[in-house]
Amino acid sequence: MKVETCACDICGVQKKETNHWWKAYLAVDGSGVLVTRLDDQSSLSLRNDPAQQWDAAADLCGAQHVLEYLSKNLFHNESQQEATR
Ligand SMILES: [Zn+2]
Repeated sequence: MKVETCACDICGVQKKETNHWWKAYLAVDGSGVLVTRLDDQSSLSLRNDPAQQWDAAADLCGAQHVLEYLSKNLFHNESQQEATR
C-alpha cells in the first residue's frame, strides 16, 4: 500500500486523520462532475466506466471546498482549463 500525502486543492491544507475529505472528478468531455468520499471504494466502478472518462481528480478537505472547486472549474471550462498539479 502506498502512502500518499494529499493536500486540498483549494486551501492547500494537508490531509490528516480526518475522513471528511472528498475527491472531485471532471468529465473529460465536460458533461459532468463526479464527487465522492475520498475513502469510498464503491465509486471505483464509476470511475472505471469506459463510457465515461474523468479528468484528474482534486482532493478537497470539506464540502465547502468541494463547492468552491466545482464553481471554479465549471466556470473555467468556458475559458481555459488549468492543469493543477
Ligand atoms: Zn480546503
